[in-house]
Amino acid sequence: MKNLFSNNLVAKWNEVLMRSKRILIATHINPDGDAIGALAGLGLYLKRMGHHVTLVCPTPYPDFLEFLDPNKEVLVYVFEQQAVAEATEQADLIIAADVSSFSRMEMMGPLMKQSKPFKILMDHHMDPVRNEFDLVFSSTQVSSSCELVYRVLKMWKPHVKITQEEATALLTGIITDTNQFANSVFPETFLVASELNAAGANTEEIFSKVYRDFSANRMRLMGYALQNIKLLPKYKTGYIVLTREILDAYGYRIGDAEGFVNFPLAIKGISVSAFFLQREDHIKVSLRSQGSIAVNEIAKKFFNGGGHYNASAGKMEDVPEKIEERLKEALGTIIALT
Ligand code: 5GP
Ligand code: MN
Repeated sequence: MKNLFSNNLVAKWNEVLMRSKRILIATHINPDGDAIGALAGLGLYLKRMGHHVTLVCPTPYPDFLEFLDPNKEVLVYVFEQQAVAEATEQADLIIAADVSSFSRMEMMGPLMKQSKPFKILMDHHMDPVRNEFDLVFSSTQVSSSCELVYRVLKMWKPHVKITQEEATALLTGIITDTNQFANSVFPETFLVASELNAAGANTEEIFSKVYRDFSANRMRLMGYALQNIKLLPKYKTGYIVLTREILDAYGYRIGDAEGFVNFPLAIKGISVSAFFLQREDHIKVSLRSQGSIAVNEIAKKFFNGGGHYNASAGKMEDVPEKIEERLKEALGTIIALT
C-alpha cells in the first residue's frame, strides 16, 4: 500500500506519542460513523499501546453507533462539560479526528483550541486549518478519517496487528462515509477494507447495527420522507424537508434521518439532492451530488458550511418557508439551466 504521509511526519508522530501519557481524542458536532469509528478504533489501539485515552464529542452520537462504545466511555460535552474540561486540562496530547478545524466542534471548539496540549489533526476534509495544530495528517485522497487513521497506524507500527474491535470500528467509518463503498472510494480503500476484514472486522455486526436495526418510528419517518420528495427538474434536483412538527409527530431521535439525503439521488435525472432538517434554532442543510457538481461551493457560500465536493452541509435561518427560494438561488450558481 502506498504511504499516505512522509516517513518524517510519522517519525514526528512517534516522538510525540512517546512522550504523551494522556491523550484526548475529539471529533465533530453530531458525530457520524466515521467520527465515532475513528475515536473508538484509534482509542482502543492507543490504549493497547499503554496510553490513557479519553474520547470526547460535542453532542451525542446516534443510538445505532452504541455498539462502538460498549462501555459508554465517550464523553459528550453538552452533558459533561466539567469532565471534558478536566480531561482537556490533564491531557498531554489532543488528537482532533474527522474535522478540518476546531470550529467543527462548535460549542466545544474554543475549549480545545485554547487548551495547552500538543495538537494533532487526523482528517480527510479539504482546507484544514493548519495553524490550529502542531502536527497535521490531512488528505482528501482517502475515503474517510478511519481509512486515514488506519494508514497512519500501519506506517507507525507495521508489525502490530489490529484487533477485531479496532478493525470493526475503523471499517464502520469506511462503510458509512462511502455510503457502502458507493462514493469517495479509492483503490487503497478496498485494500484497507480487506486488511480490516482479515483482522476480523465484524462486517455482519456493522451492517446489522448500522442499516438493519431501525426503530419503527425511523422506518415510518423514512416513508414520510420518500412520499414528500420535492423535485426541481430544471435544476436536476430533489429535496426533502423535515420540519419540527413532522419530527415530533414521528418521535424523532438523533440519527433517525441518517442517509435520507441520498434518497432523491436515486431518481432518474436527479443529480443533486438537498435535505433540510429543522433543529431548535436553525435548519440543517445537507447536500449531495453526482458527477461534476460542486455542492461544497454552495454549502460554503449560501449555507455557512462546507465539506466534500459531492457531500457537504451547512445551515440556514429557521424559516422553512424560505427553503425553496434559498435552494434555487444557490443552485443557480452551480447548475446551468437549460
Ligand atoms: P452531512 O450532510 O452528512 O451532515 O455532512 C456532509 C459533510 O459535510 C460532512 O462529511 C462534513 O464534511 C461536512 N459538513 C457538515 N456540516 C458542516 C459544517 O457545518 N461546516 C463544514 N465546513 N462542513 C460541514
Ligand atoms: Mn468523515
